Order: sequence, then C-alpha cells, then structure tokens
Amino acid sequence: MNFINSYARLPEHFYAKIQASNAPEPELIAWNEELANHLGLNELDADETMLARIFSGNEPLPGGKTIALAYAGHQFGHFVPQLGDGRAALIGEIVSPVDGGRYDIQLKGSGQTPFSRNGDGKSSLGPVIREYLLSEAMYKLGVPTTRALAAVSTGEDVVRESREPGGILTRVASSHIRVGTFQYFASRDDKAALKELTNYAIARHYPDAASVEQPVLAFFSAVVEKQAKLVAHWMALGFIHGVMNTDNSAISGETLDYGPCAFMDEFHINKVFSSIDQQGRYAFGQQANMAQWNLTRLAECLLMLDGEQQDYESLLDLFLPAFEEHYFTLMSKKLGLTNLIDDDIELITAWLQHLQDNQLDYSLSFRQLPSCLDNSEPGTFGEFEARWLQRIDKQAGGREEAGRLMKSSNPVVIPRNHQVERAIEAVFEDDFSVFNELRQVLAEPFTKQPGLEHYSNPPQSHERVMRTFCGT
Ligand code: AMP
Ligand code: MG
Repeated sequence: MNFINSYARLPEHFYAKIQASNAPEPELIAWNEELANHLGLNELDADETMLARIFSGNEPLPGGKTIALAYAGHQFGHFVPQLGDGRAALIGEIVSPVDGGRYDIQLKGSGQTPFSRNGDGKSSLGPVIREYLLSEAMYKLGVPTTRALAAVSTGEDVVRESREPGGILTRVASSHIRVGTFQYFASRDDKAALKELTNYAIARHYPDAASVEQPVLAFFSAVVEKQAKLVAHWMALGFIHGVMNTDNSAISGETLDYGPCAFMDEFHINKVFSSIDQQGRYAFGQQANMAQWNLTRLAECLLMLDGEQQDYESLLDLFLPAFEEHYFTLMSKKLGLTNLIDDDIELITAWLQHLQDNQLDYSLSFRQLPSCLDNSEPGTFGEFEARWLQRIDKQAGGREEAGRLMKSSNPVVIPRNHQVERAIEAVFEDDFSVFNELRQVLAEPFTKQPGLEHYSNPPQSHERVMRTFCGT
C-alpha cells in the first residue's frame, strides 16, 4: 500500500499526534469493498475481525500515522479560534493505485483528542449509519463528496439524549483542509504557517495554480469555482447541508460533514431541517449565499499573503454567476432541455413555484413529469405543463430526447430521512436489513430495482421527519 502521510510532515502545530482509544468490542457492520479496492486496501488481506480492529483504531493501519488536525471556524456566524478534530483521527494518507489520487483515511468517533474540549470524542451509531448512507449516496449521485469506507460498532454505549450504542465511521476524503484551517493560522497571525498551508493545498488540490503569476489568487479562484459547482449540484438534488460553517467547508470542493443534512421531500425554498439552525441561516435557498460568505472568510485569510482586496472582491463577485450557470444548466437537464436558453430560467422558476404551491415531492415530481410527454396523464402539473411541453416541442429531438435526458438526470431514489431513520432504528435492534437494502438501492440511484421500489416513496404523514440532529 502506498502511504504518504504528507500532512504529518507539516509543522507540528498543524496537528496533534494521537492514539485512537480502544473500542472494547469492535464489530464491522459495513465494509465498502469497491472503495477499498480503489484505495488498494485489498492488500491488507485482513479478515473481518482485523478490519474491525483497524477501523476502530485498536490496531494502527500498517504504514499510517495517527494525527488530529487543528482548525478554527465560524459556527453560525460566530468565530471560534480553536475547533479541530475533537472526535476524529486521521490514520493515514494513501495514494490510490487506480487513479493516483491521494486520500485521507479518517476515523470519526474514535475517542478524545487534544481538540475535544468538553466532548467525549465518540459517536453514536446513529450518525455513523447516517453519514455512511448519505455520503455514499451523494457519491453515486455524481456529486463531489467524502466517502465511507467502513462502519464499526464499538461495543460500548455513548451518552447522548439517552444511552446509545457507539460507532466509528471511516471517512475517506481527498483531504480534510477546510476554510477553517486557514482561519486557524490567520487568526493567530501566523503568516508562515498560512503560507505553508496554502502551498500544500495548491500542490495537493490545484497544482495548475502553482505555475501562474499569482498562485494564491489562482488558488482562490479555483476554490470559488469548485464551491459554486458543489452548491449547484446540492440544490439541483434538493439537498440541504444544514451546517455550512466554515469548518465544514472543504477546500477540495467535496461535501464535508453529514450532520443535520437532508434531501428534501416536498419542495420549499426556505426549508430547514436542522434542530440547531433556529434562524434558518442554512436554509435550502440560502446555500449559495452562505458558500459565498464562507469564501469571503477564506479571502480574508489569503489576503494576508498576497494580492489586493479588489482582486479578491472581483473573484468573489464571480461566485453567484458561476453558481447560477451550473445550477440552471443542471435544472434544465432535469426538465429535459438539451440546452439552456434565456427564457428557461423563468420556466425553471415556474416549475419550482408550482412544486412549492402544491407541496409536491421534489425528486418524485421530476420522475413523474415525463408522463405528460405522451399525454398519458395530462393536466397533472397545472399551467406549467402546457408551457413546458411547448418548449420541449421546439427543441431538436423533441419529446423522445427530453424523456431520455430526464431519466438519466433524475434519480429514482434518494436517501430520504424517514428511511435513514428507519435504518438507524433497526440497527439499534441489531437488524441490518434496512441499512443493507438502502446501501444496495442507493448504489444505483438512477435505476429502478425490483422489490426495492418503496425506497423511492415520500414519507407518509406519520413517517415525516421534521427535524434532524447533529449527532454530536
Ligand atoms: P461538527 O458539528 O461535527 O462539525 O463539529 C464541530 C466541532 O465539535 C469539531 O471541532 C468537532 O471535532 C467537535 N465535536 C463534535 N462532536 C464531538 C464529540 N463528541 N467530542 C469531541 N468533540 C466533538
Ligand atoms: Mg465539522
């Protein structure tokens, strides 16, 4: 296996050397064979017992180095100068033999670190199952994201609102550098570290930026573009991240931290699920603004190194137009439009308004809309329908092409909260059937899978999940 552990070679105040704590009776409850092969981890040649020991932290990953990363962050707008990996351990950095990409392998919930503050450093099995399902679904839906390699139950309870079984998730990310990592050094006025971090991030994620005249600005510009694309992707899928604090905003442009997140059932532009987001700061429709807010915080850090304020301002001004272009392009495909013309933005807006006014299910409506193409169910979508059909009939390929495009652009199944909750409740009773079925169905989200159709359904009124929790 090809370990590099490059972050552990950065200056010592970038992280703390740690040991993961001992899980009394680790048991492997999920292993992502496909991802393991991608990382070359099949070479471990370990049985389930050994995998459970490694991915609970009881046994070091051969060749890895275990560290907890330092970072700061704005949480709901308030700056906290020290957060850091309080319940996570980076156990190694590996180069994929398949694509040559570098990946962090991190345990989440493996015990206290110097950054734990008052927390126990552990995790309940609930959030482990949640992140496993949601991050893997996100990946299969084609959105940049951290992934899940393994889930382990620890054999000990953690105390949350009640006693719950403990778990550890193994997260794989192309790095764990966050906007908050830059803030950590900027707020300490540690320019040397900031410079080193920036060079490291450029080399790791945006190597093209290294060879231009102003690498730091080029780096920033690339991050802006990645974030614009990411949030556009989320919103086209009806995804609400829920806690877009700067410490949860990855420089790589991957979705990071699946806490109180949700895929929307019925559409509402201001939808909030998170129990801790009282003001709706991270409501569905706020996400582009919030990403831009986070990027502004990153710009403030980078400005300490290089460039003029107005350079950063001009790049920040490009964020919303870039976001809109990505978003409306994705949305037009979801509506079967092969290209985006000016009037389409109004058409897309009218569609969303129709969904909202009629409290319609977001994902399901995109799958039902094509039934209007052959007039099998005329009038289902009100005034919007005629207008949309007129537009489709004007484009090359007509209704047939539109139908094909919609099929490949709209998932049959998304990880709906009520199903995820059902999976967690069953796992608490030692029943892994729902979890495993969900893993199976979400591995091919654009394909109808016989016998698993019910995972596409929106919740019935008694199944609706109104609030989601951080799981810390
Ligand atoms: P999050 O809300 O998951 O992004 O976490 C925010 C901060 O709280 C990070 O610094 C975490 O490491 C820390 N944290 C969350 N849960 C725990 C826990 N159970 N023990 C220690 N630190 C935690
Ligand atoms: Mg976090």
